[in-house]
Amino acid sequence: MRHIELYDATLRDGMGGGGMSLTAEEKLRVVHALDALGVHLIEAGFPASNPKERELFELLANETLEVSEIVAFGMTRRRETPASADEGLRVLADSFAPVCTLVGKSSPMQVEKVVRVSPEENIMMIGESISFLVKQGKRVLFDAEHFFDGYALNRGYALDTLRAASVAGAERVVLCDTNGGSLPGQVRAIFEAVRFELPDVDFGIHTHDDAGCAVANTLVAVEAGATQVQGTINGIGERTGNANLVTIIADLQLKMGYDGLPPERLARLTETAHLVDELLNRTPDPAQPYVGKHAFAHKAGLHAAAVRADAATFEHVAPALVGNARDLLVSEISGRGTVIEKAAEFGIELDEDAVARILESVKRLEHRGFQFEAADGSFELLMREEAGLYEPLFELESWRVIVEQNRDGQVETEATIRIIAPPGPDERRILHTAEGNGPVNALDKALREALEGIYPHLRDIKLVNYKVRILDEARGTGAVTRVLIDASDGDRVWGTIGVSGDIIAASWNALVDSLEVGTQRSRSRFG
Ligand SMILES: [Zn+2]
Repeated sequence: MRHIELYDATLRDGMGGGGMSLTAEEKLRVVHALDALGVHLIEAGFPASNPKERELFELLANETLEVSEIVAFGMTRRRETPASADEGLRVLADSFAPVCTLVGKSSPMQVEKVVRVSPEENIMMIGESISFLVKQGKRVLFDAEHFFDGYALNRGYALDTLRAASVAGAERVVLCDTNGGSLPGQVRAIFEAVRFELPDVDFGIHTHDDAGCAVANTLVAVEAGATQVQGTINGIGERTGNANLVTIIADLQLKMGYDGLPPERLARLTETAHLVDELLNRTPDPAQPYVGKHAFAHKAGLHAAAVRADAATFEHVAPALVGNARDLLVSEISGRGTVIEKAAEFGIELDEDAVARILESVKRLEHRGFQFEAADGSFELLMREEAGLYEPLFELESWRVIVEQNRDGQVETEATIRIIAPPGPDERRILHTAEGNGPVNALDKALREALEGIYPHLRDIKLVNYKVRILDEARGTGAVTRVLIDASDGDRVWGTIGVSGDIIAASWNALVDSLEVGTQRSRSRFG
């Protein structure tokens, strides 16, 4: 069985897509999910292209990953600049990332019109940049940009750029279909020809989906000898997107007999795909191959009966292999195993009955519009509750928000809460009012001001992200609002969820969960 190296470009190339944006904390969560999935290389970006990426690399430097290695991405040196004096290359050399991917030109047209250097200077830029980083102790991959188009224009030159990269010490040369317009027959023919010319080089493939062939092009490249595939989760990326790594992984492992993820981790595919969508605040595509909600759904009647009799009649693979299920909710699928694994992660012990109760609750809540993939914090609370390890911060009597806009357009918001805290013999009724910048902020302030004297740890908890989505799926009850909040105490980041017909109520629920999660941990750790 041939091993295929899996290279995820979601956090760099994937972010080129319209409306794609993740905070550093969210990217960190994606990194951990990809590590848990078992992806080999994670392209995190250029360590200094903006403050957000700098922050991400600072966060990543302190993380321990089980399987994945972080890749820093950059460009070959500028023209007429020695590699050692090139600022971008210095940043890569100084980064903690053990692997660097350098993108360079392999099409004479790009060299002439975009970089505007001589063909010879471009070859030198590739070779010198790679050997500089190799000397700094980095493993270097070379992304041959516009390779397939360049090969069609000038075969000899395109091959020379690859030779220069390989001779300079690149551990792998990645052929990129940057414009995404190639078709599988072309990719296969070119890949085979290149392999014939450079039999000792290890190759990777990087495709885009402009002709609807990104996954197909990747698969034929593997058949023609590529040993690394690059792609993004759910195919997100510029224009029509990158190759969808989720589909590629499943195809390679389930259909083509290649070895990529550890087999037992393949079942995390659905969960990982949905997590990335949830963090991007996108509704997961129900028709997405392998991991979509409808990927294994069958219409009632003939099909359903046949599937019950023999699944192979209407299913191309067993849904459980990729962590999906026939027409069921995601939670029901991931099921027992996931619950037990998550509980262990949070240090919670569960008996069989508690596991069954948790699965029941999740099922009920998913029907109401909850999704726990991006709300690990709320899921932790649910488990604590079932395990008898949950202690509420307070008992709610009521909350109220007043929003007032005056004649000159100024908006003022005031929230009042009535709670009883702390639970136990010292309990007392607290009434507190706070003004804020909007209803959620006012409620957050009122709650914190009321509780900080009792729970000093609340001061460390910051809300880092707030996302709203209207769920219009028919549930017989009309549209509901789902709010996701990410919070951090500087040590960890967790997500919480609230669902309600009212946006402020949904926000309140997610808000309370986020404060509960942070303090449950400190309370169980120290007391
Ligand atoms: Zn790309």
